[in-house]
Amino acid sequence: MDVDLLVIGAGSGGLAASKRAARHGAKVAIIEGDRVGGTCVIRGCVPKKLLVYGSEYRELIAEAPSFGWAVQDALCNRAMLLENVRSEVNRLNGIHLKALEKAGVELISGWGSFVDAHTVKVGERLICASQILIAVGGRPQRLSMPGGELGWVSDDLFNQKDFPDSITIVGGGYIACEFACILNGLGVAVTQVMRGDRILKGFDRELAEAVQEGMQELGINLRFGLQPTGLQMNDGQMELICGEEHLSADVVLQATGRRAFLEGLNLEAAGIDHDQHRIFVDQHHRTNISHIHAVGDVTDRVNLTPVAIDEGRALADALFAGGTRVVDHDLIATAVFTQPELASVGLSEDKARERFGDEGVRIHRARFRSLRQSLPARGPRCLLKLVVEQATDRVVGCHMVGSHAGEIIQMAAIAVGMGATKADFDRTMALHPSISEEFVTMG
Ligand code: NDP
Repeated sequence: MDVDLLVIGAGSGGLAASKRAARHGAKVAIIEGDRVGGTCVIRGCVPKKLLVYGSEYRELIAEAPSFGWAVQDALCNRAMLLENVRSEVNRLNGIHLKALEKAGVELISGWGSFVDAHTVKVGERLICASQILIAVGGRPQRLSMPGGELGWVSDDLFNQKDFPDSITIVGGGYIACEFACILNGLGVAVTQVMRGDRILKGFDRELAEAVQEGMQELGINLRFGLQPTGLQMNDGQMELICGEEHLSADVVLQATGRRAFLEGLNLEAAGIDHDQHRIFVDQHHRTNISHIHAVGDVTDRVNLTPVAIDEGRALADALFAGGTRVVDHDLIATAVFTQPELASVGLSEDKARERFGDEGVRIHRARFRSLRQSLPARGPRCLLKLVVEQATDRVVGCHMVGSHAGEIIQMAAIAVGMGATKADFDRTMALHPSISEEFVTMG
């Protein structure tokens, strides 16, 4: 065997597993056909969040006069913002490359393809491994409709020199909503098209409605109940066809989900069980072939960076250090970096009612305009919500829309994970004046 562990894919899960395995003394190689860092670092969470910060200045500048600041001729140089974001991504890519080198993990550049259950081919090179980890992540999914290939997917946004002046975004999920807010903040005219009747379907309905209101107030044109059936160019504009309705813009962005990136892996050669959407694994991330494993988005469990990292580390510990930890996929906090921001841990009100019945659930909420927004007397209102199991008083869902919701819910997740009750929340002294104090003072 050439290596103890061969990892395919140098994204969040693959990098975490390879470095941890090397630290345990394993001989490790990692294969990557694109840039080291994966979706999160190169074309996802990191550049996206930097663009969120950039786009938030529009509202800050609009509110500045109420705090005594005179701001004149504030214009965003979007090309410069994109360039600065790319530089930061390059810096992080360099850090990841150095970290692999320092850990003693060999980086093999190219696309990996199974030859048999112990051998992977990259170009002309064959690598034989005792253990193999597939951590290739996912890819944006285009709509299968005529002209679908003309539109952009989220990857394309980061490669632009400048953003267009107008855009039609298809989808109502994480990526569609986040980019609708980013682009709107950067002065792009945004129309967002959904087939359903609301945005952010998987989230607590009331919270999603609060975000929806906020987005509409900022000028985003939300269109519901429209199913795209085609895309065509017309006079240099992209025209999205939704039955009778034709929506024109400089660009159409398809943010309609992501799918496991299985092309070219030749999983059949190793006999690995999968379907179009995922590689099947057990709770120890093992496929049907006992020495082949998979973590992260390619397994389509909870498709979030920290989950992939945790799965990768747990796997490396299990393979090379006798670890037995099973990754807990319950109670994972998540945020949508819209404007206003939404963050959530635990059950939505609807899910809690399904589980405990209407009488088994108590809801506490606070909706208010924060002190921060009092002088401008504008901007989205905050919504904080606790979902409590009536029989035990346990907080089973903690949700927020408002500034720093992600930062706040990250900490609340510790309490919810520990099984805190509403009485525990109430016993906690408020930190005043803050937004999150409402979580411990709401009746
Ligand atoms: P989502 O699954 O969140 O949303 C997909 C959207 O596309 C939904 O609104 C869905 O509609 C719509 N859609 C799907 N198929 C069609 C179709 N055929 N016609 C019309 N509309 C369609 O996917 P995203 O692409 O937004 O994000 C992918 C994943 O990336 C997320 O699930 C998340 O795991 C991760 N992510 C996480 C982020 C974070 O943590 N902040 C940020 C970005 C991504 P409907 O609701 O009706 O099904």
